Amino acid sequence: MNQSADPHLASGARELYWFQTDLRLEDNPGLQQHKNGELLICLYCLQDNPGWFNTVGMGEQRRRFLLESLASLNDELAALGQVLLVVTGDPRQVIPELVATHKLNRVGTSYAPGHYEAEQRGFLQRNLAAAFTVYPGNTLFREEQLPGGLAGVPGQFTPFRERVQDLPIDVPLPAPKSLPPPPAEVRFVLPETAKSLPDPAFPVRGGSRSGRDRLRNFLYRQRAADTYKETRNALQGQYYASGMSPWLATGCLSVRAIGHALLDYETTVMRNESTRWLFQELLWREFFHWRERIDGVKLFAAGRQSSGRHFCTFDPRAYARWCQGDTDYPLVNALMRELVATGGMSNRGRQIAASCLVNELGLDWRYGAAFFEKHLIDFDLPSNYGNWRYIAGVGCDPRGGRHFNLEKQSLQYDPEGVYTAKWGGFRPPQPVFVTDAADWPIA
Ligand code: FAD
Repeated sequence: MNQSADPHLASGARELYWFQTDLRLEDNPGLQQHKNGELLICLYCLQDNPGWFNTVGMGEQRRRFLLESLASLNDELAALGQVLLVVTGDPRQVIPELVATHKLNRVGTSYAPGHYEAEQRGFLQRNLAAAFTVYPGNTLFREEQLPGGLAGVPGQFTPFRERVQDLPIDVPLPAPKSLPPPPAEVRFVLPETAKSLPDPAFPVRGGSRSGRDRLRNFLYRQRAADTYKETRNALQGQYYASGMSPWLATGCLSVRAIGHALLDYETTVMRNESTRWLFQELLWREFFHWRERIDGVKLFAAGRQSSGRHFCTFDPRAYARWCQGDTDYPLVNALMRELVATGGMSNRGRQIAASCLVNELGLDWRYGAAFFEKHLIDFDLPSNYGNWRYIAGVGCDPRGGRHFNLEKQSLQYDPEGVYTAKWGGFRPPQPVFVTDAADWPIA
């Protein structure tokens, strides 16, 4: 990855910046490299999830949050006389066409995790008739800061945390004060209007501004970081956890900005076990992000537990019941129904629902990961696949997977069944088999 300052930064350059998972102006080092040209196209390519493990497309709420984030980014750009060009299509087609039409000579983007993303970058690197630069992604630390570099990133979290927790975090960059103008004909158009919010009383809206508001409220108005360690395992509520993940996943906020906000809070207001715990969660994200760089496509391999157990099974009925929230496990039903309706689920809920799919239903963990990918408004590839592997015991986990006792979890986290009832988790019992040995329906 070329991270050095670009010698083409002279005016006269006709440029394109391709936004991916960095939908912000503030603390966007890649975009900063494109502020001095003669002309700039700010591009976002809307792409649907390609089919993968029985899911296609993007859930309604994930799409809503994304469209809101794009609209918000366009507002920020408009204040600088710029505009966001949103094109539905594959960047391997869209970008070369724009380069040819507008006679562009420089294209840049920031690292976005994922296998398809890597393929797209590789294609553009090889084929584009313009200089193509990939800038660093949304991580707390720079690659050069990692002890031993990328190759030195351990396979397990604890040694990683011990190595990086005291590293300095770069101060976030301010938004550029000006950008070159776009071509006259470029307009901001979204393919559809965003769907409505699932819960207007608890609006999780896309865009940097709402992310910053949420962070301020969480830290300073609610002082919720002070008690994070005690509240973080709740299944519902507004401030039991930071709620930062949707803005991090879309890049509406940089992780450095959140890290610095937390460190400032610790310096000026309160530093305790809870605030440290929250910082450690950011390191979990950091760990998965660097592991993604190392593991690449292996992240998506079924894997094998240390016991030798191999995940490759698929039972369509069990899978459909899990997705629809219609299993024999009321709490899991409630969690899955919340996920589909809102695009959100607590961390504890994700652990419970994932453990159910892997351990109770015995399915290949990737069906569950793909379903989460479709619906989570905070879908973050390294965190999602990293956590699923961890629960399935095929990733960076020395303990060989996590099997949650669902009855105990229900009693501990939803003793009165309030959450389960709210999401309609109590379902009528269903027969184990609906067909007989010859595959005839059982009446
Ligand atoms: P907080 O508890 O306030 O934590 C602050 C931040 O730390 C989070 O925003 C997140 O960036 C990071 N973080 C916290 N826990 C984890 C973790 N276990 N792994 C990685 N980063 C973490 N997180 C995602 O951001 N995107 C995903 O797609 C995703 N998929 C998951 C799938 C499964 C099966 C599981 C068990 C966890 C997954 N997580 C994912 C991690 C975690 O559940 C969410 O980050 C968290 O619930 C987000 O809520 P929050 O912002 O309030 O987190």
